[in-house]
Amino acid sequence: GRLVSLSGVAKRYPTGTLAVQGIDLDIGQGDFLALLGPSGCGKSTLLRMIARLAAATEGRIDWPAGPPRPGDIGFVFQEPTLMPWATALANVALPLELAGLPRREAAARAAEALARVELAGFETAHPRALSGGMRMRVSIARALVTRPRLLLLDEPFAALDEITRHRLNNDLLALWEAERFTVVFVTHSVFESVYLARRILVMAPRPGRVHAEFAVEAPAPRG
Ligand code: ADP
Ligand code: ADP
Repeated sequence: GRLVSLSGVAKRYPTGTLAVQGIDLDIGQGDFLALLGPSGCGKSTLLRMIARLAAATEGRIDWPAGPPRPGDIGFVFQEPTLMPWATALANVALPLELAGLPRREAAARAAEALARVELAGFETAHPRALSGGMRMRVSIARALVTRPRLLLLDEPFAALDEITRHRLNNDLLALWEAERFTVVFVTHSVFESVYLARRILVMAPRPGRVHAEFAVEAPAPRG
């Protein structure tokens, strides 16, 4: 079924910039969708509107199966926005504690989320003691710890070296194959969009529109 439906969505910033317009898009449950396009074409704006971090100035964004509850949307930014004074475990547990979970249960679920991103054993590490790839893994664990229906990633691996980026791509793909949450992944890498996504939306600037959509055939099972 459908998870999110956008119809006629546009966003004009108070500066006058028309960042995106005329966006019609159905995101299905379990989709892995890439938003591909050059800088400035409105990818981040579209993602922030889906996440409800920004309001559309035109059109509608509907959630046919019910509006998202707290924890239903996980967001991963390019710059890991981790609390530097807190351990990896405390960073990942934060969304659960904000949702009112008892400390002990939040910690147990945070440890489980760290294990899902191959960081078992790093619970007490502080972000500065971790590599860039590992900090990104902590951010992904924090986004997934609430078991969101929708995971949104905004050029998450663009600042990482190629090998780390490739490992993270593989691990994200394995998580999605195992758990089938819905993913919208913003990238300006054609390679990354084809490697990861099942649907690729190509966006074009001035004004930001969806220019074309491609379906990617599922590859043969690995291993
Ligand atoms: P992308 O993610 O594809 O690089 P953005 O969504 O960040 O594109 O930006 C789309 C357009 O909107 C750009 O012209 C950008 O300068 C403008 N823009 C983005 N955020 C803001 C903002 N907060 N205020 C004004 N203009 C913005
Ligand atoms: P990733 O594991 O995300 O690919 P890197 O490629 O940067 O991250 O790191 C390569 C490997 O080096 C990691 O998987 C980890 O085993 C090890 N490593 C990196 N930083 C540390 C650290 N601060 N403490 C212990 N091991 C580390």
